[in-house]
Amino acid sequence: MYEVYALKYAERDTTACQFFYREASHAPLTLHYYVWLILGGPHPVLVDTGFLEDDARARGMRGYVSPAAVVERAGVKPGDVPLALVTHLHYDHWAGHSLFPAAEFWIQAEEVAFWTGPWAAAPAFRQSANVTALAGLVTLNYAGRVRILHGDREVLPGIRVHRVGGHTAGLQIVSVQTARGTVVLASDASHFYRNVETRQPVQIVTSLPEMLEAFETIHALAGAERLIVAGHDPEVAARFTPLEPGIIRIA
Ligand SMILES: [Zn+2]
Repeated sequence: MYEVYALKYAERDTTACQFFYREASHAPLTLHYYVWLILGGPHPVLVDTGFLEDDARARGMRGYVSPAAVVERAGVKPGDVPLALVTHLHYDHWAGHSLFPAAEFWIQAEEVAFWTGPWAAAPAFRQSANVTALAGLVTLNYAGRVRILHGDREVLPGIRVHRVGGHTAGLQIVSVQTARGTVVLASDASHFYRNVETRQPVQIVTSLPEMLEAFETIHALAGAERLIVAGHDPEVAARFTPLEPGIIRIA
């Protein structure tokens, strides 16, 4: 049985109208930034890689610590992570890849195609990109460290990725069997609990129907236990078990 941890490495303030789809409210909204760690299998599995100091500075982050430092505090040396599931290629999920020098990165084909394709540089999308980190994807691929996936698949017995799209072209989420039930790492298929629980989209989107479908997929995977881990919600710490600052045990 696996154990799952949410590891927080930064936070940032925005407003509801800047974030939720067709939202009029200017109410303040705080995003927390996480990577996730799955332990208890033959080796650790990291989900997403966070970002480096450059994005922390440029994007007005508060309380930034290196995602590698949080992973190490959770008991895993960053150089000992052989596998990282990359939910999507936005800067806050991909730009920290160099922190994990032994990892193979598993990414959906449509996600790779999108960020090397005709719409990546459009203003609506490029604000979510770290171009240097995206260029590194090509280098890593030639080094044999990228596995390009086509849809849902098993990662290890009891761990699966599920391609949902919606927020980005090839967004994938992760389900993990634990002693408490199935944990669903929703990443940015549901930034906040409000998204998946009220079916309210976010403004950053490649396909609205796929985003809505993803909410249903999350509910179906989570079942009655509802062990859903939203991608950027401070409430993760309230719904699950904080062990020390920045380290939340999910199951
Ligand atoms: Zn994100």
